[in-house]
Amino acid sequence: MTSESFQPIKGMADLAPPAIYLWQRLEETTRDILARYAFDEVRTPVMERTAVFKRSLGDTTDVVQKEMYSFTDRGGRDLSLRPEGTAGVIRHVAGSGQAAQDARLYYIGPMFRSERPQAGRYRQFHQLGVESIGAPCPAADAEVIALQAHVLSAWGLKDFRMELNTRGLPEDRQRVADGLRAALEPDLDRLCEDCRRRYAQNPLRILDCKNAACRDIADRLPPVTEFMSAEARTYLKEVISLLERLEIPVTENPRLVRGLDYYVHTVWEITHAGLGSQDALSGGGRYALTFGNQTIEGVGFAMGLERIITALTGQGLDPGSLAKPPSVWLISQGAAAFDENLVLMQSLRLRGVSCAMDLRGRSMKAQMRAANRANSRYVVIRGDHEMEQGTFQLKNMADGVQEELDMPELMQRLTSGTDRVCPDTEEEE
Ligand code: AMP
Repeated sequence: MTSESFQPIKGMADLAPPAIYLWQRLEETTRDILARYAFDEVRTPVMERTAVFKRSLGDTTDVVQKEMYSFTDRGGRDLSLRPEGTAGVIRHVAGSGQAAQDARLYYIGPMFRSERPQAGRYRQFHQLGVESIGAPCPAADAEVIALQAHVLSAWGLKDFRMELNTRGLPEDRQRVADGLRAALEPDLDRLCEDCRRRYAQNPLRILDCKNAACRDIADRLPPVTEFMSAEARTYLKEVISLLERLEIPVTENPRLVRGLDYYVHTVWEITHAGLGSQDALSGGGRYALTFGNQTIEGVGFAMGLERIITALTGQGLDPGSLAKPPSVWLISQGAAAFDENLVLMQSLRLRGVSCAMDLRGRSMKAQMRAANRANSRYVVIRGDHEMEQGTFQLKNMADGVQEELDMPELMQRLTSGTDRVCPDTEEEE
């Protein structure tokens, strides 16, 4: 075996200690906050029929055309690893009948895209996604945006920027395209080759171009809202005024375009200054997706967790500091003490105390070394003397103070009172 065989495949990673402590912290905080907003978790399969993605994301999008891991299984079915989470959730909601039409759902899980791996861009990455299903109303959009801002600040993220725009209604699209074409016409020769193609097919995408000359031209265009219906403009205004009421800082960006065609009304994006070229943390928007004979409307976002982790560690957060070492480490001298410590360990664990011991019956010195490495708050030592007396040495590793206690005192100390090792855990009988 070469050393390469021990590595996961390119663009994918093992999430292990110490980084996993930060992943767990993010997930715990997220679940707590999502419950406060009355959202439920949904776990859809990582693999779907390819048609599920083609239908909801559109046949012509980059994600579907170039980035999906698709294959035909032995039964001849066309399947794909999910490149994003919304399509699976919408399939689930469409199949759940009328009752699910106002579903409030979230997911956390891996997504797969066969992109060229680089910093911030992986082939397996993780998203937190939220979908608030229901007919368009500005309050639903504002609620989801407020939720997202809440999650980001609960994670401790600083310096993120939220930009907001509208895609208008489907019936505004033609007017927006015509209006942009008219405004772009005098500069047509100065646009890059791609944008000259976009001019004919979908001029909105010109606003997205990274080319400096195109950017310069796009910057001087009137805002897209100018070509939209009064209804679309009022909707956007209302979302912005609700966000002001909720004290959520967002910047209106009339150039913001989200690529997918299913968006209607509100779209937004979050970026982080510390992330370099892959600075997008999240994209969100209101959508109308047709599934079978149903049109599912909703508003939601997907947030890239690897990039959140990079941003948080860039702010100086050390994932190792979030480790939860066992509170108590048990040390035994001889076989009888080892045997009784095994029983004590189980009893402490049942009472909510995290504890561990060396299971190989090694020397006291080796056990002590293991205790130090484990970084536990207490060490309980049971030597020959303590076995004779029916006592324990309890050593506080922070100050080195050691006391001899009998069993009731030890249990009292570790499971209740000011020294209680697990203050948040209800004592189990
Ligand atoms: P998208 O569905 O492309 O709008 O992606 C939503 C978010 O997922 C982005 O803003 C990124 O934070 C994250 N993301 C998308 N693609 C990748 C990738 N290949 N690797 C890591 N994160 C990604």
